[in-house]
Amino acid sequence: MKCSTLYILSLFIITGASHAHDVQVPASIEHSPLDQVTKHIHVVHGTQALPSPQTRGFMNNPAVITTRNGVIIVDPGSSEEIGRQLLEKIKNVSDKPVIAVFNTHVHGDHWLGNHGIRAVYPSVPVYAHERMIERINAGEGQEWIKLFMDMTKQAIEGTKVVAPNIGLKGGETLKLDDITLRIHHTGHAHTDGDIMIEVVGDKGLFFGDIVAANRVPNSDVPEDASFKGTIKAIKLMLDGSATFFIPGHGLSGGREVPESSLHFLVKLRESVTRYYMQGLTDFEMKEKVIKDLSEFQDWHNFKEIGRVISFVYQEVEHDNF
Ligand SMILES: [Zn+2]
Ligand SMILES: [Zn+2]
Repeated sequence: MKCSTLYILSLFIITGASHAHDVQVPASIEHSPLDQVTKHIHVVHGTQALPSPQTRGFMNNPAVITTRNGVIIVDPGSSEEIGRQLLEKIKNVSDKPVIAVFNTHVHGDHWLGNHGIRAVYPSVPVYAHERMIERINAGEGQEWIKLFMDMTKQAIEGTKVVAPNIGLKGGETLKLDDITLRIHHTGHAHTDGDIMIEVVGDKGLFFGDIVAANRVPNSDVPEDASFKGTIKAIKLMLDGSATFFIPGHGLSGGREVPESSLHFLVKLRESVTRYYMQGLTDFEMKEKVIKDLSEFQDWHNFKEIGRVISFVYQEVEHDNF
């Protein structure tokens, strides 16, 4: 599976599948503002372009939750440098120390920046789903470093694997200083080890990559995903108490942010299921499914939908076997 991840992401480099309409978002973290989105949450809304020498690997939404006596970081980006730059930005909103770091899932754009935070705060606890920690300890961390070194032409040089050290299962309520966090895990979704983090007092929810605004869900590493599980996770969170949502990529907002990912995924599964029932193979249905989903053609990674259809097809086949 790891090899195919590398292969698929390498294909992006070769085919240049990043998108011209990303230009409205600054590519590097230095030029991206730390936006306040709720009372205690600030987010750097990153570029949706894939890692390159120009972005120095930056492609996610690093965030900070301010507490009375500290700050909590969520997903500190994809290199030591980006983690350190995030710390610089945080100085504009708080002069308090980092008391915890959370990683939403194992994909390198979200957690390789742990190194930059631990370089300054050597004993800060880093929380993640226990399955993510298992995968990193089994060697996946090094593979992400290698991939990002290749994609950025060595711009993340020096970044080391700093695995999370506190494992979560989902269902925990954590009181950190004056902030209460509720950890959600609803089974295999974007990966087999996602956490979603609810900042209870703010009614804010970090989705990780279970939701990516204006981006084809699960399209970067579809072999890691359960499309069905992603639908389940989004529905459960929409039925919960959060009202403001921070996606793993793209802009934060109200219910419309997760609802649009959900709409895409439901439509995709319905379309693939319909043609499967008619006896079409994934290859034969591809153009029909693309037509059914044409309202999403401006989304990031829409060009990758053929690959995504194959994985959804396998799920539908499995469900009907
Ligand atoms: Zn991801
Ligand atoms: Zn991501």
